[in-house]
Amino acid sequence: MTRTCPKCNQTNPPDAAFCLNCAAALGLGAPTPTQNPQAGGQSPYIGAPPQAFGGTPNFAVQGNPQAPPSQRPLISVILAGVGLICCGPLTGIPAALVGWLELDAIKNGKSSPDGKMMAQIGFWGGIGVTIIHGILWVLYLLFGMFASMAPY
Ligand SMILES: [Zn+2]
Repeated sequence: MTRTCPKCNQTNPPDAAFCLNCAAALGLGAPTPTQNPQAGGQSPYIGAPPQAFGGTPNFAVQGNPQAPPSQRPLISVILAGVGLICCGPLTGIPAALVGWLELDAIKNGKSSPDGKMMAQIGFWGGIGVTIIHGILWVLYLLFGMFASMAPY
């Protein structure tokens, strides 16, 4: 069927969106706020995934890029490294704590996400150093017990 213009009564093709004579909108595919009553008249694209960013994660989840850089990731990694070399849990536990605090601050947008990788290294490094040294201490004690129980 053809579409008749409500303004000038011009007969238009069935797929015409605008009148051929006076260019008035014929109501075909022209979105109006009343077509989205559930959205309160807003565009249905508000709240859709930000495809303009190519699917990159939301910065609100990643952290605040404008937050000031923190020294804690570096401190955490240094503590974990020192723990690996000599001190074990004495610095490994603080390394994990500092790394965890920094990761928490990044998650809450209080710290720059630039240090996230380093904070994770410090966090897991501190835990790993603590566990490794703990195992070594247990082995040392066991060997000491076996040595003292040896019959010679
Ligand atoms: Zn018309």
